[in-house]
Amino acid sequence: MRAREEIIPVFVPHLGCPYHCVFCDQRRISGQTEAATARTVREAIQKAAALPRTGAKRQLAFYGGSFTAIPLPEQEALLAEAKAGLDRGEIDAVRLSTRPDAVDEAVLERLKRYGVETVELGAQSMDEEVLRLSGRGHTARAVETASRLVKAAGFRLILQMMTGLPGDSPEKDLETARRLIALKPDGVRIYPTVIVRGTALYELWKAGCYREHSVEQAVEVCARLLPLFEEAGVPVIRLGLNPTEELSGGQAAGGAYHPALGELVRSRIWLEKARTLLAETEPGSAVVLGAAPGQISQAVGQHRENIRRLCAEFALSELKIRPAALKNGEISVISVEKA
Ligand code: SF4
Repeated sequence: MRAREEIIPVFVPHLGCPYHCVFCDQRRISGQTEAATARTVREAIQKAAALPRTGAKRQLAFYGGSFTAIPLPEQEALLAEAKAGLDRGEIDAVRLSTRPDAVDEAVLERLKRYGVETVELGAQSMDEEVLRLSGRGHTARAVETASRLVKAAGFRLILQMMTGLPGDSPEKDLETARRLIALKPDGVRIYPTVIVRGTALYELWKAGCYREHSVEQAVEVCARLLPLFEEAGVPVIRLGLNPTEELSGGQAAGGAYHPALGELVRSRIWLEKARTLLAETEPGSAVVLGAAPGQISQAVGQHRENIRRLCAEFALSELKIRPAALKNGEISVISVEKA
């Protein structure tokens, strides 16, 4: 089980990033418009320090943008405030995210000096065509090189990937996952592509040059990705963009935006397992399946979708799901009454 964490978020939207990935508008994605300064960091730490300790690891997280591409004076000012918070014992760890090609030994040495613990790299895809069509401006090899450097320097490595980018396919997403697993990250975040207003991707979509990655397609492919990572012992620490008022309020114009995407994916994985288990069931049967106590709602599915689909596919007269002494993700047949 992962240690509990208390996140102190500081957004550095687009600050210092000279690139224009087609899907990116960090301001709209993060819901922030003001770039963080040393003062923002100090105030965020002070606010958190005023609250009683809960025993959770208190982690300052620089989100968004490409942290190590921020001009050095601003970057060091942010890092110095974070380090001061660490030295005073007000926070326990610092993490940040950046681009693979904005990392080298000197950069990592600087991050070490300021006490950074975790480096997140936006890999997004390991397919060269997808990277090119998405305007990433780096290669898959850059992801591999940067990942090795990050690990060799003793940081925790988190890799981010996206699904449904321009030129993408489920097979390419699966290949990306395999290549990321080979880099032995400490965790991954999966972000199915969302079409945000004001981005180049939005224009491509409006012009009919990009077909959106629907929620259903994202659920389908992520239900294949998640078991790959989990079987390899790589925790998936986030699935889907964090919901924000801006995105939910209409800035997400299309694509795989759903406030409970992770829940939908886990529900789909459960559906696939139930399908295998029910394969030999006679039509007209009344079935009771077991699921781990904390996973009943995932097993049932949003709006009882799994129950509805399984009843229709296997012509069941009734399907119930009951809590059973199972681990998360496991499923059992409690009873089958034939017609
Ligand atoms: S590198 Fe990151 S911050 Fe910069 S445009 Fe691409 S996704 Fe946005």
